[in-house]
Amino acid sequence: MCGIAGVFGHPNASEYAFLQIYSLQHRGQESVGISSSDGKKIHTVKKPGRVLEAIRQEDLDRLPGNMAVAHVRYSTSGDSGVRNAQPIVGETSIGEVAVVHNGNITNYLELRRELEKEGIDFKHTSDTELFIALLKTGRELVPDWVDLDERDEEVLPKVFYALSRLEGAFSFLMLTKDRLIAGRDPYGFRPLLVGIREGTLLFASESCAFDVVEGSILREVKPGEVLVVDEEGMRSYFPFEERKKAMCVFEFVYFARPDSFIFGEWAYSVRKEFGRQLAREDDVEADVVVPVPDSGVVPAIGYAEERNMPFEMGIIRNHYVGRSFIEPTQELRNLRVLMKLSPNRAVIEGKRLVVIDDSLVRGTTSKRIVSMLRRAGAKEIHLRIASPPVVGPCYYGIDTPSREELIANRMSLDEIRDFVGVDSIKYLSLEGLRSCLPSWEDFCDACFSNSYPTKVEKIAVFRRR
Ligand code: AMP
Repeated sequence: MCGIAGVFGHPNASEYAFLQIYSLQHRGQESVGISSSDGKKIHTVKKPGRVLEAIRQEDLDRLPGNMAVAHVRYSTSGDSGVRNAQPIVGETSIGEVAVVHNGNITNYLELRRELEKEGIDFKHTSDTELFIALLKTGRELVPDWVDLDERDEEVLPKVFYALSRLEGAFSFLMLTKDRLIAGRDPYGFRPLLVGIREGTLLFASESCAFDVVEGSILREVKPGEVLVVDEEGMRSYFPFEERKKAMCVFEFVYFARPDSFIFGEWAYSVRKEFGRQLAREDDVEADVVVPVPDSGVVPAIGYAEERNMPFEMGIIRNHYVGRSFIEPTQELRNLRVLMKLSPNRAVIEGKRLVVIDDSLVRGTTSKRIVSMLRRAGAKEIHLRIASPPVVGPCYYGIDTPSREELIANRMSLDEIRDFVGVDSIKYLSLEGLRSCLPSWEDFCDACFSNSYPTKVEKIAVFRRR
């Protein structure tokens, strides 16, 4: 998963982009990058690590201009490390371009092979490089139904051609020397919004990146929409054939920050509703509802409210450690669980707990949390998961492990209960999850239903590990 942000029309664009991408840090912690344009040239800084530690004032001083794009990376494909950090910058048929992208392009290998045969060079192993490589071909496409503004005649046919070749998930921002182009794939897998602050246009994966610069939400970029912004304003196009929408439900389950607005909803409200629905499907007898912080907190509030039970912080989080899942190796992930979470004996001792988490993927995190709660004197532990069993790997940008590593594919419910070490376990039902969404047909829930919106047999998965 990744986070992207963009700014158009502010003299300190790179500083705004920096603040915005900082508020999207939860979407990726491996690397950060910012590109700006001063109208003549694109300037770029890319660093490994987190935003605040990686980017210095002197970096921002090297990023002049009134437009900028930024990225935080959590690699789901290609190598991690700064070589694949974004923005990816290259000289193309529309001049120098910097691209940031969230999602996974599923025909990467196929397209790369084709373009390499034509003699186009690849410098990275990230699917995002395809934007640059396709723009290098100089090929053009203007779909019949698109009425092109004459100001866009030079650049957009080449962009439309490039986009028409991509399959899978892509929300992107593209900086040329004098314009910013934003777009979402026709399924709308990943979120992308437009915000505004006085005369400045803002773009971001989640609306929390507008609050940080005192901006407000203008609207979402629609699935299949491409927006072009230049000194003369913003123009909208729909260059893709229409597809059934497939917005990612896991953004609501886990990924998005609870204070964000995405896919036409507040993440907080949907996530809380998952907890309420889980409660409606449950009748376990217990003393107190305890969330696994932070991701279990919002559904636990909904659960406790619905069942009229006390809600207590029985697990305390050390805020100086990052998200555990986001570290690339399993060993580091394991260690980090206990560095991050501690038992609060004042709540736990002698009590029957309903422990709420947002999702169960491999099951290793919960196992450690449960043994920690037992050591702290919990009398009973009833694990409640505010989403259905994860049974399908994600090909669209969420880093779920392979089918075989998913605990729900390896074990029955009773076996999972024994493996994690709890007295009982219950997941939110798939129907229950769907009932919490405004129109569930517009969402991709393949990780829970195995029902994929695109053909998956063709997808050659390439992963870091
Ligand atoms: P585990 O069951 O040990 O694999 O860990 C699951 C926990 O990690 C969940 O409760 C989430 O809070 C978090 N999580 C689940 N999926 C992801 C993901 N794709 N990326 C980052 N964190 C995740």
